[in-house]
Amino acid sequence: MFFTYEQPDFDINDPKEILRVLEEAYHNGCENCRAGKVADYIPELAKADPDDFGLCVRSMSGETASFGETEKRFSIQSISKVINLAAALKFLGFRETFSHVMMEPSGDAFNSILKLDMTSDLPFNPMINAGAIQVMSMLSNIMGFDELLEFARAFCMDEGIVLNEAVYRSEAETGDRNRAIVYLLQSKGVLQGDPAVTLDLYFKMCSLNVNAKTLANMGLMIANKGQNPFTGEHIIHPGYMRTIQSLMFTCGLYDESGEYGVRVGIPSKSGVGGGIAAAVSGRWGIGTYGPALNKKGNSCGGIAALEHLSHLLQLNVFD
Ligand code: GLN
Repeated sequence: MFFTYEQPDFDINDPKEILRVLEEAYHNGCENCRAGKVADYIPELAKADPDDFGLCVRSMSGETASFGETEKRFSIQSISKVINLAAALKFLGFRETFSHVMMEPSGDAFNSILKLDMTSDLPFNPMINAGAIQVMSMLSNIMGFDELLEFARAFCMDEGIVLNEAVYRSEAETGDRNRAIVYLLQSKGVLQGDPAVTLDLYFKMCSLNVNAKTLANMGLMIANKGQNPFTGEHIIHPGYMRTIQSLMFTCGLYDESGEYGVRVGIPSKSGVGGGIAAAVSGRWGIGTYGPALNKKGNSCGGIAALEHLSHLLQLNVFD
């Protein structure tokens, strides 16, 4: 961990130095995988190899630096919450979206139910399960899975995204906490759609197959304010990126978002499949894959690599 923030003694804009730092960050990520364990509460996820690690960084001009396991597909899990939020902003608008979900960090585990029942009627934010399920209930009234998948492919600039059927079945069979959340929201009268349809869409979006490069693309889309830098196509209004990045920064790593903000300081979103997508505004998209997770459900290797490169290349938003 870097707790002293001295200036680097090399030119942080020199492409050779950048590549050297990225490679170091990759090795740092690999070493830190051993500290974690793969998720097993969704049985299909337990099949992942805890030693796998990959880092992919992409720039606006299409330069790509890939290290390790960047092509292997895995399920996107909670990183889909960013896609769901982006779709809600695009198709429903800001006012409607935030009439039904708040914008506050919860400080609780991603699948917590406690505060939802005790202290507020609306879920805290779209980056935790309750909030993402609520967002999905709104979307379920205007679009089905095929349209959401099409949006996900455009938003992540990856036509290769498909549903991982085995993960989807595994989630649906074991997702009792998420069932509890959807019915709790319904019992409070705040859920916006049918509980079964909502949950099915939520599970399907968590089960999309991506790789580290897809996640770098997602970061790049966000870093480029909703425009595909390669085709020029506008996928979502640039004004929404401030909202998406703020929520990623404050809530993207669940109840580790504060410490991650200090250590890494780049708007990011993690998933229990082992991915992290990060957006370096106006510059880069970064994707990591390392299924060995820490106790909060975040990728050990991913955090270590991102901390290293953020620190040495001065990428913290407050640098
Ligand atoms: N599908 C997972 C769940 O709902 C997503 C959780 C995550 O990635 N943190 O429990």
